[in-house]
Amino acid sequence: MPAPSILRLHLASLNGPDGGTWPVHGFVILHEKAGPILVDTGVGGPEKALTDWRVVNVSAADALAKHDLLPSDIKIVINTHLHFDHCGQNAVFKHAPFYVQRTELDRARRESTPLLDWFDFAGARFELLDGDTQIADGVRVIATPGHTVGHQSVMVATGVDGEELMIGDAAYTSKIYEKPDRPQLPRGQAADREAWERSLQHIHELRPAHVHFCHDTAIVHS
Ligand SMILES: [Zn+2]
Repeated sequence: MPAPSILRLHLASLNGPDGGTWPVHGFVILHEKAGPILVDTGVGGPEKALTDWRVVNVSAADALAKHDLLPSDIKIVINTHLHFDHCGQNAVFKHAPFYVQRTELDRARRESTPLLDWFDFAGARFELLDGDTQIADGVRVIATPGHTVGHQSVMVATGVDGEELMIGDAAYTSKIYEKPDRPQLPRGQAADREAWERSLQHIHELRPAHVHFCHDTAIVHS
């Protein structure tokens, strides 16, 4: 069986916590046996959120079409976490199960009530995960709490030169990933600074061959 491969989707641009323009990426893992797996679905939410963040949105369907994929082709959705720019278009993938950490769904239901219609709509099927979990051959999630309490990142054995990591918002950018021990972090980067630093240390210890970011076009190669 060929090793899985990764496609990056451009799902939006928004006004980042540093005032600059940030991309929003999702990823598709092309997996021979499990089918296409989507990591994060892009931006959605109440009008106010979209205005506040000055979102220029792309529909997930259009982003997938660039790679000759339809929303219905997606067999599994993994949400790194349930912020509006990572689960905003979950409803496009109603046919697929959403793999989310149990602690993250609890948090979002408590803290993100304006977003409920976007991730907790009628018929949403959650696969609730408790920590590190194998999703398919060569695809696993690792719990990386800190940005949110139930944040997870996705490791894929693509076979090129080790595992590739989709880091989610465990680090917004390559610069933050490479130097997490800075006094000042962008707004929202770490809800729990101690847990966040432990997660980043853990990721570094795993030595991913490539690190892909949601909000940075740079790819870190180690
Ligand atoms: Zn986030």
